[in-house]
Amino acid sequence: MSKKQFKAESKRLLDLMINSIYTNKEIFLREIISNASDAIDKLCYLSLTDEQVGLSRSDFRIDVSADKDARTITVKDNGIGMSMQEAENNLGVIAKSGSGAFKEEMDSTKAEDLSIIGQFGVGFYSAFMVADKVTVLTRKYGEEKGVKWESSGADGYTVSEIDRDQIGTEVIMHIKPDSDEEIYGSFLETWKLRALIKKYSDYVRWPIIMEVERSESYETGEKNDDGSPKMAYRTVKQEETINSMIPIWQRAKSEVTDDDCIAWYKEKHHDVKDPCALVRINAEGTVSYKAMLFVPGEEHGSQFYGETKGGITLYSNGVMIMENCDKLVHDYFEFVKGVVDSPDLSLNISRELLQHDRQLRIMGQNIEKRVKGELEKLMKEDRPKYEEFFRNYGVHIKCGVCDEYGRYKDFLRDLLIFYTSEDHQMTLKEYVEAMPESQKVIYYASSDSVKHALSLPQCEDVRRRGYEILCLTTPIDEMVLEALHDQDGKSFCNVVTDDLGFDTEEEKKAAEERDIENKEFLDFVKESVGDAVSKVRLSRKLASQPCCLTTEGGLTLEMEKYFRRGPSPEMRNIRATRILELNPEHKAFAALKAAFDSGDKDRAKNLSLILARLAELLAGAEIEDPAAFVSEVAELF
Ligand code: ADP
Repeated sequence: MSKKQFKAESKRLLDLMINSIYTNKEIFLREIISNASDAIDKLCYLSLTDEQVGLSRSDFRIDVSADKDARTITVKDNGIGMSMQEAENNLGVIAKSGSGAFKEEMDSTKAEDLSIIGQFGVGFYSAFMVADKVTVLTRKYGEEKGVKWESSGADGYTVSEIDRDQIGTEVIMHIKPDSDEEIYGSFLETWKLRALIKKYSDYVRWPIIMEVERSESYETGEKNDDGSPKMAYRTVKQEETINSMIPIWQRAKSEVTDDDCIAWYKEKHHDVKDPCALVRINAEGTVSYKAMLFVPGEEHGSQFYGETKGGITLYSNGVMIMENCDKLVHDYFEFVKGVVDSPDLSLNISRELLQHDRQLRIMGQNIEKRVKGELEKLMKEDRPKYEEFFRNYGVHIKCGVCDEYGRYKDFLRDLLIFYTSEDHQMTLKEYVEAMPESQKVIYYASSDSVKHALSLPQCEDVRRRGYEILCLTTPIDEMVLEALHDQDGKSFCNVVTDDLGFDTEEEKKAAEERDIENKEFLDFVKESVGDAVSKVRLSRKLASQPCCLTTEGGLTLEMEKYFRRGPSPEMRNIRATRILELNPEHKAFAALKAAFDSGDKDRAKNLSLILARLAELLAGAEIEDPAAFVSEVAELF
């Protein structure tokens, strides 16, 4: 029998498969099983109109078996089969669908980048990643004779006519010998095959059957001393359907309760906690797909299993095509887990294509809208649960607001909540709605905790007027407000840095005049304090506290703290421009002023330093030289 040559491009692909160092070789089984399933689809469809087929729906099956001695894995189906011509056409050249795209990619990159192999439905050829010879025995429905197709790789293939009783196809893969890099023999293990079927082909519509060994007890016929029958164990072989066939998300909503979905999620993702949101989508129209998505109850839920990012698995008609697909939704929803199944997705999808695929984009947008809707519902109906969600995932939402110059800020802003007291959080919308008429801006204060933020001296005046203050407790919060710019036309006002807007023009003028009158005194304080602050002025914000630290320019003390943890010394040395404000109504001020006026410069200098340090402390900044501070205070005794 003469050997026939593969077409040039097929040869190149085959070469790649044969010499593949790609780590994800295991997808070969998925590809071969998918072909078997498609072949059964075809015959099953035919059987609807052609009684001669003689098979009913329940007769169709895919058998997977391994022979360790012969080192073969066989996948057998009773589908439509192939004629001689078809075997040559279909197996001898690169198939039209999946592999075509693969070839294009290979041609365009020119690089022998093997990592792309697994991203494509490379179909039948993938068998050559694990096998050094593949034999296909097949007989097409309606034909008298069968066909044997065989190839040991790139040097060509043979086809011949054979006698074959059964309709359908058997693909026999002769597994490569083990090498230092790869133990190919492990694919011959029943447990391994079973695991691969579960992983990739669990929702193939037709039963995938394996013969598995099981130990069972039986009566030996003898009796024990007490007269009971003597038992022993033996190993029996038994056929078992490995795949669960109908995916839970494909079933009608009326058939499957939300609790069923949650139970499925917990089992599949090894999570003991209930998810905090569930989204079920059955979309029909320009893009049809079904989705079952979850927001895990806790972020670390299944970190142990290495699933932190991109928890969405893509299926096409029940065949898994991509795990951890991180391109379907934006990073701000990267905590969403679950499945998306669409007949419109082809197996030849790659991560790169995913981003550009119009249908996928539509799907992703729709999914994001639904997830957001579900979260808003949770916010309305179960606030404590939403707050828990936000504790876990708020940072993703906040990063999303800041990402790409605020491109997604309007989509995400309603999901943000901020503390306004230690036991109360508000959305920005709620804040604005609750604003008294006299209030013009949204006040916020930054510190490392809600308590500290609210105890900033600058908050006193704001709170006395009955205005709420948003407490920003993480470094990213200020950037979030900056990105948002405003809420319903109300701008944000940092109680520490900005003009609180309470003073009239006259009051401002009077204050300026007061600073000018006190210039000599204020200059003295500034000089005493040194470079720690860039300016000293009399405050209009303070009530009970003697002093406070304000910053000028864009950089706040909170940002400074953030930069202090930065990677480079330049970053760590970034300092906000500090202004020391003194409360002229406070007795501490009176004491300082008295010392200055009486000419006791040493005491006045010491009191100035102490007030500067106190202002730092109130602002939550660290005192750079605690020993100096202690000496200054000790001076007072
Ligand atoms: P694809 O499935 O993407 O078309 P493949 O390389 O996997 O590409 O398969 C090539 C073709 O070979 C299939 O389209 C099908 O016509 C035929 N084929 C493969 N396996 C079988 C099978 N088990 N039964 C019938 N035809 C098959």
